[in-house]
Amino acid sequence: MASGKRDYYEILGAERGASADELKKAYRKQAVKYHPDKNPGDKAAEEKFKELGEAYEVLSDPQKRAAYDQYGHQAFDPRARAGGGRPGAGGAGGFHDPFDVFREVFGGGRGGGAGGGDIFESFFGGGGGESSDPGGPARGSDLRYDMEITLEEACTGTEKQITVQKPATCDTCGGSGAEKGSKRVRCQQCNGRGRVVMSRGIFSIQQTCPRCEGAGEMVEKPCKTCSGDGRVNKAATITLRIPAGVDTATRLRSNGNGEAGQRGGAAGDLYVVLHVAEHEVFKRDGDDLHCAVPVAFTQAALGAEVDVPTLTGKAQIRVPAGTQSGTTFRLKGRGVKNVQGYGMGDLLVTVTVEVPTRLNAAQKAKLEEFAHLCDDSVHPQGKGFFEKAKAFFS
Ligand SMILES: [Zn+2]
Ligand SMILES: [Zn+2]
Repeated sequence: MASGKRDYYEILGAERGASADELKKAYRKQAVKYHPDKNPGDKAAEEKFKELGEAYEVLSDPQKRAAYDQYGHQAFDPRARAGGGRPGAGGAGGFHDPFDVFREVFGGGRGGGAGGGDIFESFFGGGGGESSDPGGPARGSDLRYDMEITLEEACTGTEKQITVQKPATCDTCGGSGAEKGSKRVRCQQCNGRGRVVMSRGIFSIQQTCPRCEGAGEMVEKPCKTCSGDGRVNKAATITLRIPAGVDTATRLRSNGNGEAGQRGGAAGDLYVVLHVAEHEVFKRDGDDLHCAVPVAFTQAALGAEVDVPTLTGKAQIRVPAGTQSGTTFRLKGRGVKNVQGYGMGDLLVTVTVEVPTRLNAAQKAKLEEFAHLCDDSVHPQGKGFFEKAKAFFS
């Protein structure tokens, strides 16, 4: 109910005595910040955006604003109105779509000309396939393609062919949307502007012309293959060059390989999002690779040359005598090539010392003999530990 709602002036960040212009300015500033296009998936921003729409809708209407100033949120509460002879502000129970409010403010204000609409489009990058150049044909949409590659492919780079089903330029009309010999004529509804102005209350709203869909012109006879759209759905095979060093979530752009534009408009782009599959030997950490290599306890104790795998074949590391389990050796430059060209990462090999299992009688005898020969000095870690823990054994 009324008590749970925030003050409309507070929501907009405006003074109670703010002029209509100041309120509009305040709304613009906040609405741009919280618009869902700028905050995809952000529920809190969406709520804020709704709240802003409601606040501005009330405060921008002089009658509603007067009612709100006098009675607060109760002015718009149907229960309060029915029961207690409240003033019934403007009749409307619910509020409009917050996007309608936004479009009214940004879609060219009172007598403001085309400026407002252009601010909106340039701010949000003119998305949604609508051209920001009135009269020009619409640009095609961008496409996303998710691709899994192996770690080897990610590290060395590769070339991949993919097939994408998408709207492509119609071969019959070459994308113009017109039948052979048919001319393009100026759209009569918008007189070639691609936009029409509609009035709603005190606002005039600019909209994309519904007849020509913003193109400003139309064909006399539409192409039969594509029904005048200039595009047909087709499977396209695209070759992608994947550079060395890419990682999961790397996004590659393939220029012009998105959807074809309507009636000869520019094509969108294809975005390929990469996912690097888990590898059974190597783990990736940025440009470094990690791998764990088991070594025999005798090798660790006596020292040894140990073979280790790298992405490009075998390498050797020198494990010095007395190496403990968990010791890491760095092989400089044997990791992954930096995708921006900043050199190579390293390969980090961690040795795990393996304790022998299932010993036969002869092996056991030798080890027991060995154990008798050992005193604390060959196990410095154990010695140090038991000295510290002495108190707990007493
Ligand atoms: Zn066609
Ligand atoms: Zn038109």
